[in-house]
Amino acid sequence: MNNSSSRILVVEDEPNVGEVVSLYLTRAGYDVITVNDGSTALEVLASEIPLLIVLDLMLPHVDGREILTQVRNHSNVPIIVLTALREESDRIAGLEMGADDYITKPFSPQELVSRVKAVLRRGGQSQVEETDLMQTLAFGNLQINAGMRLVVVNQKEVDLTAKEFDLLFLLVRNPKKVFSRSQLLEQVWGLSEFIDPGTVTVHMRRLREKIEKDPSNPQHIETVWGVGYRFKP
Ligand code: CA
Repeated sequence: MNNSSSRILVVEDEPNVGEVVSLYLTRAGYDVITVNDGSTALEVLASEIPLLIVLDLMLPHVDGREILTQVRNHSNVPIIVLTALREESDRIAGLEMGADDYITKPFSPQELVSRVKAVLRRGGQSQVEETDLMQTLAFGNLQINAGMRLVVVNQKEVDLTAKEFDLLFLLVRNPKKVFSRSQLLEQVWGLSEFIDPGTVTVHMRRLREKIEKDPSNPQHIETVWGVGYRFKP
């Protein structure tokens, strides 16, 4: 397992469940690869480490438990286990084998998406070290201190709303990476299913009015037409 990827690997042998899970995760802005059995899952895992694994425990050929054990020997990629087993002992066994969370069938796909987000949020937080948060990031006339949630433009403190700050900080933390509106909704609002993507456009306009010298010709946050936005460091 070498190359880390941004895809979520869904391992599920029931086609309907696999399709629905894949559909909901895709709509939530994730790249998804779905496989129907354990041996194909291991083939995928031999060449890439996914962002997260949604793993059914009862699988043909190679059992989900076996996959869980093998993955944990090599990687701490987040794993959410799907289980039809209602017995608490089985769920506990899954967690003891290294799963990050479990969900019992039948489940609502929206619930699964929420769990995925929560697990990634927990994982994602540890990537931003405390020291990074206290550091002041400077980009020309723009300075950001995440720990203090302070934004300074041309030596003047700028008053951003919580969402405007989160939006800016997400872009700044991933310089040059293009985010689609649905990805921004997903990561800043966390409820992409229920919020109009136009919300992002409105917040982006206000954010630019506050941090850009000329909001119609932005220097910090670029619009990538037809795709989304990115931060120019
Ligand atoms: Ca199954």
